[in-house]
Amino acid sequence: MGREEKQMAGVDRGTVGVMAESSKLHMGYAEETCFTIGKRIAADVPVILPVGAVEAHGPHLPLETDNLLAARYARRLAALVNGLVLPTLPFGQVFSLGDFPGSLSLSNETLTRIVVELGEGLYRQGVRIFVLFSAHLGNLTALKEGARELWARHRDMCTLHMFYPDLQKLAANVRESPAAHVSYIHACEIETSLMLYLAPEHVDMAKALAEDPKLPIDADYTPTPWSEFTQTAVLGNARLATEEKGRYLIEETLKRAAAIVEYEKERVRSVS
Ligand SMILES: [Zn+2]
Repeated sequence: MGREEKQMAGVDRGTVGVMAESSKLHMGYAEETCFTIGKRIAADVPVILPVGAVEAHGPHLPLETDNLLAARYARRLAALVNGLVLPTLPFGQVFSLGDFPGSLSLSNETLTRIVVELGEGLYRQGVRIFVLFSAHLGNLTALKEGARELWARHRDMCTLHMFYPDLQKLAANVRESPAAHVSYIHACEIETSLMLYLAPEHVDMAKALAEDPKLPIDADYTPTPWSEFTQTAVLGNARLATEEKGRYLIEETLKRAAAIVEYEKERVRSVS
């Protein structure tokens, strides 16, 4: 068994096919060398930046939950669209859970600058499709702002800003507990299911809580730290999470994400 095969022996079975392929063709942008990266970059090769956060996720999930999800989701997306994945940006904008133990936050302004400066660098390298995938909803305001600024500077580059496409709509098909909010999912039945599918070794189901937080009527209309309505950072019943629900939600949102990226690949091809 070669060194690479030995390394692969410890990898979960679902990714082995992808890994085998990538042993010749790297998916990691930074795994390439300065001699090989130029051959991988092309206008229609999407480059994906996984964006996460370090924030409270209850007693059963680690602070780096969104980083694990973003990194592993981005690799699966890259495999579907023949893209490259950048190293994960492990910090995000964490207002809502900012006063919980362990949470760390960047301002929207800082996060926007990071997106724009990385986008400029990628543009100079020849990249024309830049995909920002965030597993943390709080990052989306800054990512969208960064994407708009890049659009204003380089009309021939497409920057996508995405969270799992259609997640809440799809979650309605599998959830057994009510959603705490129309768009937030956090350390609950849904996000814990995503973790059970993508990063099960980081979930401690014995510590999963069943919560039913009541958000105040003004929560969407005025700055509302979540410490006002939860002591645990768990927005729902994490005990109902299953790997099966996670598989459905990840695979279905991935299909949608891949379709959006493929659409942009066609657009870029039609002008180059
Ligand atoms: Zn999260």
